[in-house]
Amino acid sequence: MNKIKVGILGATGMVGQNYLQLLSNHPWFEVIDLSASNRSAGKKFKDAVSGKWMMNNDIPKQFENLTVRNIHDIGSIPSSVKFFFSALDLEEKDDTRNFEFHYASLGYPIISNSSANRWTDDVPMIIPEINPQHSDIISIQQKNRNLPSTGFVAVKPNCSIQSYLIALVALEKAGFPIKDVQVTTLQALSGAGANGLTNKNWRENVIPFINGEEKKTEMEPLKILGEIQNGKIANFNNLKISATCTRVPVIDGHTAIVQINFKNKIPTENEIINIWSNYKGEVHDLDLPSSPKFPIIYNKDSNRPQIKLDVNNGNGMSITIGRLEKDTFFDKKFIGLSHNTVRGASGGAILMAELLVKKGWIKSE
Ligand code: NAP
Repeated sequence: MNKIKVGILGATGMVGQNYLQLLSNHPWFEVIDLSASNRSAGKKFKDAVSGKWMMNNDIPKQFENLTVRNIHDIGSIPSSVKFFFSALDLEEKDDTRNFEFHYASLGYPIISNSSANRWTDDVPMIIPEINPQHSDIISIQQKNRNLPSTGFVAVKPNCSIQSYLIALVALEKAGFPIKDVQVTTLQALSGAGANGLTNKNWRENVIPFINGEEKKTEMEPLKILGEIQNGKIANFNNLKISATCTRVPVIDGHTAIVQINFKNKIPTENEIINIWSNYKGEVHDLDLPSSPKFPIIYNKDSNRPQIKLDVNNGNGMSITIGRLEKDTFFDKKFIGLSHNTVRGASGGAILMAELLVKKGWIKSE
């Protein structure tokens, strides 16, 4: 098929740059529009990110000389752009929320990394291996808001939950529902965007607080596990999560220490490892380019998962788990690791966009 033309809102930021790395050679999508604030608008992309390009590889050649558009300059959007990835971080959440719907009202699908619309109850928040069916709410969203048939907003959830939620869902789907989760996250500097990487006070330090993160970690899984009812996504109410979120001095990779109680029967450790190692999620059969062969990889070595050895497993899209053991206070404990700017940000959103292409919500023509 011809590649689908796509734009990136917030292309100059940390997540935007990550999109460009991951999409520079994507088999379905071709990035032709880069936009950001008036600080960057009008500049060649390579000049707009001069001194603030944070990726390990160089800027992909095809983007260097593209002129950055101001996100408000709608008239300059190339006519062939079919949808946008949004990696914006506007000052006010309300501005981001309204801005995303403004683009949707122009007929564009918006696949967003922002938290602004995560709690909008007709907006799906999707991890493709968990709740691809939530895309069904898009038609309701379009009707509620009088959007054109091509326009909608879909979001990906917070990076903090990616290191373990798929693992819990795999157990739930295998007949071992979980009722309590206690999680402590050790989150990488890149999760705080460009400022996180340059903040000298965060080097050689642990910051025991991330504004708003614990609420997101406790609440977002409930929407993801919820059901569409009466035109909204109603939360799942049979799971309680207690979260402590910390910032640690690693560049990429969120680690989560997780303790769980099962609702009924407690599976053996072998059963759990088997369930995780074989878990695919229903999207696996759709042959999506960013879908990892194994969404969950279990490593039996007692000193794994480690950021340096495991964060790039499955091209950064697999979750690596280790240390599954009995716990003193809970039924089991384990440690999960995910790549926060790939699985937890741009890679997760690209996988969602691929799903929405397959389901016909993002159209190539
Ligand atoms: P960032 O590095 O600070 O980049 C922000 C982007 O938004 C830049 O392109 C910036 O353009 C643009 N921007 C800021 N203010 C603007 C304005 N008033 N008008 C137009 N554009 C504006 O942030 P980030 O880390 O990439 O995060 C982007 C979004 O993804 C945030 O909502 C964040 O919460 C979310 N997220 C981040 C991560 C992560 O791991 N970093 C994970 C999940 C979700 P200029 O360069 O021109 O200023």
